[in-house]
Amino acid sequence: MSFLEIDNLSAFYGKAQALTDISITVQPGEIVAVVGPNGAGKSTLLDSIMGLVKTEGDIRLRGHSLVGRSSSEIVRSGVGYAPERFNLFPYMSVRDNLMVGAFTAREDIQSNLDIVHKLFPRLKEREGQETSTQSGGERQMVSFGRALMTSPELLLIDEPTIGLAPKICLEIAEVIRQLNSEYGLTVVITEQNANFALSLASRIYVLESGRMQTSGTEAELRNDKRLLDAYFGGH
Ligand code: ATP
Repeated sequence: MSFLEIDNLSAFYGKAQALTDISITVQPGEIVAVVGPNGAGKSTLLDSIMGLVKTEGDIRLRGHSLVGRSSSEIVRSGVGYAPERFNLFPYMSVRDNLMVGAFTAREDIQSNLDIVHKLFPRLKEREGQETSTQSGGERQMVSFGRALMTSPELLLIDEPTIGLAPKICLEIAEVIRQLNSEYGLTVVITEQNANFALSLASRIYVLESGRMQTSGTEAELRNDKRLLDAYFGGH
């Protein structure tokens, strides 16, 4: 039994189909990346796991189906979500945005906050700052922190490098590695930046136009034509 199993998942916005027959497995402790160009369906995939989109097919966490469960139940079952472009409350402080993540938590609030502050000392220094005045990198940290406040075992991160400078991307990669190796989190990231994905993930799935094009280990995909085509095809 895999930690996360997605079987023949299709997703719909009204009558429009955004994903078709996607199957993914993630083992405990893995970092897996889903890469693909704009509009490939990466956010839809993560939103589907979180119960935010109408779907067909099955999604199981530790063998238990998440389908039909509410997003808050899915969070309580151990799935944390750092969405694309963060979705923070811009006129609330860093601390209050983090506490939004603690909303579903019954315990561990202080110890989770301590972990977040250890990972991101800047968030402690700036805990009273409104997130609207933060840099993109700092907001990404708050978004990760808010997800960590839910005590996840599985962390879903949607396009963590989007709009961020290369130096900040390196810092973000280091934090993701640390969450995986020190805190034992299983991680699924989506990316348009194939190099970033290859530098972090042990296995990669390539998504295009809502369909899975190919998948394999980082070593297998490094020179895979379909991965390159997903980015550079037609250019
Ligand atoms: P990007 O990198 O640009 O964020 P993505 O790979 O995350 O792209 P999605 O945002 O999942 O792609 O979009 C997949 C498809 O679903 C696109 O064709 C998009 O237009 C469509 N879509 C996404 N959200 C909605 C929505 N709320 N209503 C209707 N269609 C949507």
